[in-house]
Amino acid sequence: LKNDQLDQWDRENFFHPSTHLAQHARGESPSRVIKTASGVFIEDRDGNKLLDAFAGLYCVNVGYGRQEIAEAIGEQAKELAYYHSYVGHGTEASITLSKMILDRAPKNMSKVYFGLGGSDANETNVKLIWYYNNILGRPEKKKIISRWRGYHGSGLVTGSLTGLELFHKKFDLPVEQVIHTEAPYYYRRADLDQSEEQFVAHCAAELEALIEREGADTIAAFIGEPVLGTGGIVPPPAGYWEAIQAVLKKHDILLVVDEVVTGFGRLGTMMGSDHYGLEADIITIAKGLTSAYAPLSGSIVSDRVWKVLEQGTDENGPIGHGWTYSAHPIGAAAGVANLKLIDELNLVQNAGEVGTYLNETMAAALADHAKVGDVRGEGMLCAVEFVKDKDSRTFFDAADKIGPQISAKLLEQSKIIARAMPQGDILGFAPPFCLTREEADQVVAGTVEAVKAVLG
Ligand code: PLP
Repeated sequence: LKNDQLDQWDRENFFHPSTHLAQHARGESPSRVIKTASGVFIEDRDGNKLLDAFAGLYCVNVGYGRQEIAEAIGEQAKELAYYHSYVGHGTEASITLSKMILDRAPKNMSKVYFGLGGSDANETNVKLIWYYNNILGRPEKKKIISRWRGYHGSGLVTGSLTGLELFHKKFDLPVEQVIHTEAPYYYRRADLDQSEEQFVAHCAAELEALIEREGADTIAAFIGEPVLGTGGIVPPPAGYWEAIQAVLKKHDILLVVDEVVTGFGRLGTMMGSDHYGLEADIITIAKGLTSAYAPLSGSIVSDRVWKVLEQGTDENGPIGHGWTYSAHPIGAAAGVANLKLIDELNLVQNAGEVGTYLNETMAAALADHAKVGDVRGEGMLCAVEFVKDKDSRTFFDAADKIGPQISAKLLEQSKIIARAMPQGDILGFAPPFCLTREEADQVVAGTVEAVKAVLG
């Protein structure tokens, strides 16, 4: 097929997610057909080789073109492409993977329920939490608290949990059981003279006030990413998670830790929960579980939750929650091969070391720029935030589209992919864990050039 033909079919037939539909149909936004990829590079049909400093959608953690995973998928497909996992059925891959996940999860975790992606896993979590409180005889304890700027998916409940206006507007979301609280976004949300410690106290006080306003007996759970991802790549200030966990414990509110981005190494620790000392009741995993070689997600439930779910089935019969593709053999085979590869190649350690190097060199190269307000990150996550005026911390308007302009320039000048985060003036990096220091240098040099070209 000729590229022109594909372009035409694409614009005529393909409903792309998270896309300005009208512009795309009119041919005003780019269309790119990706053909192949290896390591940190992807290649399109025109032969352009691009350094993917966002690992797809922060998911191709082991890098592209890993033959070990492709072969595991192929062998599984030939031997058994599908069987369901209802009423005790499984495959060697899905059972092995459940053990490998639990071996890597915090000690209080008990079982893993498999899904397809992060959204359905969080949808599962909310249902499990409602079931849990019904079995405990407290049906009014149902509301879920998430943070503004949190990202937890695109479904009805998970789109509601997502604290970004774009995901609510015109969809009649959030649903009434979901409420939002302050994000731990020190750079943007704290007053100029507020210390990190004071800001953490403010976040905890705001959460406590929300719980008191709504009534603790109506609040079931709190969900959060260890590091806010799509909302701007924002590591929390020191002490934030301790303060939040203390409030949740006091009011008997479950903690769901969404590790879709941070799970399996992105912060330089196996789980983000290890990094921040989080004691989750449920952990969401997806993306890095298979490095996106096949769709698979999971809800890891703690002993505490599991015991009540078991009791529920004794009282009510089998749990009425199942997906056809739960624990799909091909996803499970990809997951086993992926987690093995992460261990064999020491990729968690590399994510920590090269990620720190990327963050440090990015900060050193850009921190003095008059319009770079903040360079921040953790492990293999890095963000650069642009401001109109640094001293007064005056932000650009969304309409200025600073992030999109800089990411477009970075692509055009240096063939490097980074993502403009939703509010438009943050550039985010989340490379595969196999990034080398030389490639990190390339990313920093390209970014400096792109910033210079757009902001001077
Ligand atoms: N949770 C987090 C933290 C995410 O970043 C994402 C996706 O980016 C999701 C959930 C939703 O996952 P999916 O897009 O696989 O449904």
